[in-house]
Amino acid sequence: MRATERPLHLETQLIHGAYEPEQTTGATALPIFQSTSFAYKTAEELEAVFAGREAGYVYSRIGNPTLVGLERRLAVLEDGLGAVACASGMAAISAVVLGLAGQGDEIISGNSIFGGTYSLFANLLQRCGIQTVFVESTDIDAYRDAIGKRTKLIFVETMGNPKLDVPDIAALAKVAKEKNVVFVVDNTVTTPLLLQPKKLGADIAIHSTSKFINGHGNAIGGVIVDCGTFDWSSPRYSQLSAFYKRAGNMAFLAYLRNQICRDLGGCLSPFNAFLISIGIESLGVRMERHCANAMRVAGFLAKDRRVHEVRYPGLSGHPNHAVAQRQFAGRYGALLTLKLESKAQCFKFINGLKRAQNLANLGDTKTLVIHPASTFCRDLTEEQRRAAGVSDELVRFSIGIEHADDIISDFDNALAQV
Ligand SMILES: *Cc1c(COP(=O)(O)O)cnc(C)c1O
Repeated sequence: MRATERPLHLETQLIHGAYEPEQTTGATALPIFQSTSFAYKTAEELEAVFAGREAGYVYSRIGNPTLVGLERRLAVLEDGLGAVACASGMAAISAVVLGLAGQGDEIISGNSIFGGTYSLFANLLQRCGIQTVFVESTDIDAYRDAIGKRTKLIFVETMGNPKLDVPDIAALAKVAKEKNVVFVVDNTVTTPLLLQPKKLGADIAIHSTSKFINGHGNAIGGVIVDCGTFDWSSPRYSQLSAFYKRAGNMAFLAYLRNQICRDLGGCLSPFNAFLISIGIESLGVRMERHCANAMRVAGFLAKDRRVHEVRYPGLSGHPNHAVAQRQFAGRYGALLTLKLESKAQCFKFINGLKRAQNLANLGDTKTLVIHPASTFCRDLTEEQRRAAGVSDELVRFSIGIEHADDIISDFDNALAQV
């Protein structure tokens, strides 16, 4: 293979992948087409676009050139067939699940997942007649045992939050393949820099771009990437058969765009797509720094006797350290948790932090802190809390890209006040 034919590294794809200057002006930043609709000179032309005989934009809920620019870049990062951008990570997850499952169907999900996703699966889906079988996130046999005739997908996150458990994605992909069930991986917390779900056998990758992909805490967004690995002619998904006839392996993307996302209406705003596209360019360097900083902070906390327990997949004592090491190419993300003696101590500690911001988000350039039990996990039952690894003594961090010494001194000072 000549050097020029070698596939580009992901760090280069972040800058150059699916990325060309705009044709009419040469503008190098993704242009913002802040337009609801797109005009045609004749009724015949618009008819042809509606009928799918001619390519063209119609209405920004279904498609928009700024969104397509972002979708192409995200598809490249996941080495996918294509992508559909959504208004949020939750809009992306809802569209995939409601597109694949209906009344009387089942889905299987790990139990250590994002709170909003858990609530969607446990409440709204149930009211729609879709049962979610929750299994221990890292228990591969439990997923296999749960698969039935009406199972429409297996859903997992690459790292539980705040439990920070790490399921073996390749092993799960095998289980899904054996039974010909779609395997959906939420890759928000790890990003394609740590893990590409497709490489491990996943069929669909989902991101909340609100987190690391955007990285600057300024735009909610989500994306669905079809990895191009699933045979959409499968009778298990008969709702796609008309799309399969027309679009072949592009069936799921066409179905999502032209039916599910169109009808659910959770479309991304072009301005947010623009902000996200800027964020993507620095994702490589940001993830490097996030991971290096988190490793240093974890090392500091693990030695600190004021802290009861530190959880970080990069620490050799973490129960899934070996899986994480294999799966994330020697990096372990930005999330870490620690335990203090009581809720009161956690609050004192959080209030004593000068730079870490106390808020409900992760993946920002800034170091973020939150007390899960009193915030995003407050609606969980006692049993659900245990499954999610949440207790009153737990504090979660998303380590930012500041200088590690300054993060550590902030922690050190705040711990001294507890
Ligand atoms: C934040 C998050 C979501 C939801 O994304 P929004 O953009 O907030 O809707 C889904 N999954 C994971 C893992 C997340 O962290």
